[in-house]
Amino acid sequence: MLDGRWASIRDEVRAQIDASPLLRPAHGLPVDEHRARVMEQARMVSQTRSARLFFPREYGGEADIGGALTAFETIALVDLSLLVKIGVQYGLFGGVIRRLGTRRHHERYLRAAMTMELPGCFAMTETGHGSDVQSIRTTATYVPPRQEYVIHTPDDEARKDYIGNVARDGRLAAVFAQLITGGERRGVHVLLVPIRDERGRPCPNVRIEDCGHKGGLNGVDNGRLWFNQVRVPREALLDRFGSVAPDGTYTSPIANETRRFFTMLGTLVSGRVSVAGAGLSAAKLALAIAIRYGSTRRQFRAPGRDEEVILLDYLQHQRRLLPALATTYALHFAQQALVVSLHDAGDGDSPDDEEQRRLETQAAGLKAISTWHSTQTIQTCREACGGAGYLSINRLTELRADTDIFTTFEGDNTVLLQLVAKGLLTNFRDEFGSMDTVAMVRYVADQVVGAVLERTAARSLAQWIADAMPRSEEGTNLLDREYHAYLLAWREKHVLEAAARRLRKLMANDGDAFSAFNAVQDHLLLAARAHVERVVLEHFTAAIDRCEDAGVKSLLNSVCDLHVMASLERDRGWFMEHGQLSAARAKAVITNVNRLCGELRPHAQSLVDAFGIPDVLLPELLRPVS
Ligand SMILES: Cc1cc2nc3c(=O)[nH]c(=O)nc-3n(C[C@H](O)[C@H](O)[C@H](O)COP(=O)(O)OP(=O)(O)OC[C@H]3O[C@@H](n4cnc5c(N)ncnc54)[C@H](O)[C@@H]3O)c2cc1C
Repeated sequence: MLDGRWASIRDEVRAQIDASPLLRPAHGLPVDEHRARVMEQARMVSQTRSARLFFPREYGGEADIGGALTAFETIALVDLSLLVKIGVQYGLFGGVIRRLGTRRHHERYLRAAMTMELPGCFAMTETGHGSDVQSIRTTATYVPPRQEYVIHTPDDEARKDYIGNVARDGRLAAVFAQLITGGERRGVHVLLVPIRDERGRPCPNVRIEDCGHKGGLNGVDNGRLWFNQVRVPREALLDRFGSVAPDGTYTSPIANETRRFFTMLGTLVSGRVSVAGAGLSAAKLALAIAIRYGSTRRQFRAPGRDEEVILLDYLQHQRRLLPALATTYALHFAQQALVVSLHDAGDGDSPDDEEQRRLETQAAGLKAISTWHSTQTIQTCREACGGAGYLSINRLTELRADTDIFTTFEGDNTVLLQLVAKGLLTNFRDEFGSMDTVAMVRYVADQVVGAVLERTAARSLAQWIADAMPRSEEGTNLLDREYHAYLLAWREKHVLEAAARRLRKLMANDGDAFSAFNAVQDHLLLAARAHVERVVLEHFTAAIDRCEDAGVKSLLNSVCDLHVMASLERDRGWFMEHGQLSAARAKAVITNVNRLCGELRPHAQSLVDAFGIPDVLLPELLRPVS
């Protein structure tokens, strides 16, 4: 059930992990040794199907993006540095060539990227601009007589920073730069620029610096790059969305510069999906460790009992771990659905604009919510293992340190949630000026209804929302799934609608868009979160509907109940403020969290065993004391 459509690939990677001493976690290695080991592991992975899955068939690959993402998720359990190293090589470097390049780039580079013969980098971020990529300042100026580009770093703020594979191994960098032809700026484009020769020496006029020791992921060699008037041939431009003729004439199939930029970035959506999946893998591993430990570790004796109490029999221990486990299940099914959609839509390159936008929004939202969930869950698991959780050999501190940055790279979570909110507002942007409030409320409600209607079972729920009628608590079972769906959909609708109303008011009388959006930023972030949480619940519910085994189905239903009750408990203030939960019902939510924790306690071990984490990756604290 959890392994999903690409179960055989998960099993293949698990078998490789079992069979390869090199694919074992190692802790406390000095940075140089860690980097060398991760590179060796990455080379080993490059000889397996996991690498081939990501690449097109013409170049020796298998063109199976869903399979590739599933393989990466499983490899993440070994060492997150390894995941990031291959993510940079295949997903970012290989991905940008495949997505933004044309045939000559594919023929020349893809096979070498896949086999790791050509270690590459994805050099987008600069010291001065990370989230705001459109404002980067590296330039690529075309010089017609020589048919070359000159790549230049104007100052230290424009140096490339934090770039994976730069400090030690990378030889070719995909450099994001402002393209200039005929004296005109054409916006951000990507060019392939050699940074080291075959013997590993920096290329002329390229300066390379090591970022040094980091807060985690020390098996990855992040570094900085400066280009001093570096010359590259005309073919170096990845020219799928913008090309330059020998005489310097610029053409693009997308006239609008901002649209072109977002189309280019949109094709790289798989990176975000991969980071979300790896974050969830880390949370699963941490939960497997903490729950297995909590199932045997004893502390304090209850009066009149012979034995000391097992940690997981304490209510508070259950409350710390089991709701986090339930939400991990919810996010797992949402992630699985996203991987399937991405695969079926041709890896983020859907010809259907609306589908492509939907994928980008879902990937951004899920990446933010999943990686935040992972960092919180891992910390909880560390605490739940007491002192043993703090020893490096037991993996939790490394998982915590390595996943920390997942909330920032591949798009900072806060910035991503703003993208999600803007995506939600875009649907009625055109009507914005002319709509009165009632029409706008109706419009937003229709959007939510449209999404909810996809699930036939929720038809009556859709009707409630269309009528904008809050549902009375009377006669409604707190554990009714349609009621859960209703509450989350109502919250999404209400928050979006209120944000839209505020924006409209602020922008009336020629208010400027920046100030208006800034004034409602918190509101927009809440709308995005509400949207993602509603979508996550839909995917969890759909997965349960698909389940054919009655026992598993019933267990998953309880897990889903706990996920929802814990979310309502966390947000009960909001629901009470907005008249959706009475004080009595809010208290009932708390009682239900306690009850469900007790009910799921006997199944906790099975629920983490179901993640299928190879035993060789589990730490020492789970082995019996001799
Ligand atoms: C280990 C590591 C590996 C990396 N690998 C690569 C790589 O291989 N290639 C690459 O190109 N880059 C890489 N990066 C860079 C990474 O993608 C950036 O750090 C990230 O995009 C954030 O940019 P920034 O650091 O400039 O932060 P900033 O954009 O300056 O953000 C700082 C803070 O400001 C907040 N903020 C920013 N804008 C807004 C706004 N509009 N509203 C509200 N809040 C806002 C953010 O939420 C954040 O909390 C890596 C970074 C690290 C640390």
